Amino acid sequence: MLTNDELAKWDRENFFHPSTHLGQFARGEGAQRIVSGGEGVYITDRDGNRLLDGFAGLYCVNVGYGRTEIAEAIARQAHELAFYHSYAGHGSEANITLAKMVMERAPQGMARVYFGLGGSDANETNVKLVWYYNNILGRPEKKKIISRWRGYHGSGLMTGSLTGLDLFHRKFDLPLTQVLHTEAPYYYRRADLNMSEADFVAHCVARLEDLIETEGADTIAAFIGEPVLGTGGIVPPPPGYWAAIQKVLDKHDILLIADEVVTGFGRLGSMFGSDHYGMKPDLITCAKGLTSAYAPLSASIVGQRMWEVLVRGTDENGVLGHGWTYSAHPIGAAAGIANLKLIDQLGLVRNAGENGNHFWQAMREAVGGHRNVGEVRGEGMLCAVELVADRDDRRFFDPAEAKGAKVVAAMLKRGVIARAMPQGDILGFAPPLCLTRDEAEQIVSVTRDAIAEVLG
Ligand code: PMP
Repeated sequence: MLTNDELAKWDRENFFHPSTHLGQFARGEGAQRIVSGGEGVYITDRDGNRLLDGFAGLYCVNVGYGRTEIAEAIARQAHELAFYHSYAGHGSEANITLAKMVMERAPQGMARVYFGLGGSDANETNVKLVWYYNNILGRPEKKKIISRWRGYHGSGLMTGSLTGLDLFHRKFDLPLTQVLHTEAPYYYRRADLNMSEADFVAHCVARLEDLIETEGADTIAAFIGEPVLGTGGIVPPPPGYWAAIQKVLDKHDILLIADEVVTGFGRLGSMFGSDHYGMKPDLITCAKGLTSAYAPLSASIVGQRMWEVLVRGTDENGVLGHGWTYSAHPIGAAAGIANLKLIDQLGLVRNAGENGNHFWQAMREAVGGHRNVGEVRGEGMLCAVELVADRDDRRFFDPAEAKGAKVVAAMLKRGVIARAMPQGDILGFAPPLCLTRDEAEQIVSVTRDAIAEVLG
């Protein structure tokens, strides 16, 4: 076996890591961790640490680590049929079965599921399907997509454009021109408006209406949103937000893409965030929780009204020119089947609701009163602790002080992984859905101690 030093050196000299400060990493500065194993909610690394993963990888290992049922399903599939493509009517038992299982769980009104590899490609697929749809309907001008500031929809050209975070645009010549951004439903950050939550929802709606009017409804194809803003800060919407947005979309014949890459398959305590908030999407984007990241697989679930037009389109124009080699990869599909079965058997959707809501409420009780904690919020197995320099004016700390990153580092020393979210000092938590009350308590007490260490 390679020594830790050898691996660490090879890593610094060869591996171009995603979302990483390249210079620092190459110079041997900043974090480096070589992960070697996982069991339940814990991962282990080559330095002998055992860490409670309060972020389930990247909010994706929803059933927890080390599930032999999934590992065995993957191995069986690899032996039997590692790959055959799914173009032109080809399928395998695994991907056909998974398609049926996804549709059985999907919200009402959905018609078919298209499989890809990850969340970004699923959103690329969704945008292309929206454009195709409007071309078939003879509305070639109706193409713009509205997203929200602080939304996260991926890192591709179109999906990075949909993402409403400066870091993903700056220096990449993004966003592309077909993408527009509107106000995020981030009530805590709009204290300047001095409004009730209900008035703030009306404000978000008015901003959306203004944008539609300025651009012209006949140029706008779709609105994309995560049921709960994720990477942009883990922000559940104010009550009534989705119902109010849906009304505007219906009025202007604008499609809704629910990006459920994080919320799909149980994280909020409902199978889908769309069910949770009564959204009526035309397309649902899924990835992460579909296989709990045991193998890469994404899903674009297509609603009935779109499906009918897509069928018409191919009747008129021939084959739909959109496919990835690895669409519906049988190994991903085998992982997905075993994963969805486990979610059912272990009652993880219910656990995400019960223990998840208990978790973030316990977090609120433990740290919500600290003078540098502006807000503790959550929904199901998602929680955020927003750190502020001043509770009255809600100012973030100077980014150069890296307070959020320091609290996360102080938590790591105590054996718990949290995530410093990319904008603002926000501690993010998205543990595996199998989190127990004891494990939740451990995360909460470590957060409390780490905040006390860094912020006094
Ligand atoms: N949409 C959402 C809501 C996400 O959180 C993510 C990933 N964090 C993506 C899309 C992109 O998924 P991927 O990284 O698998 O491409």
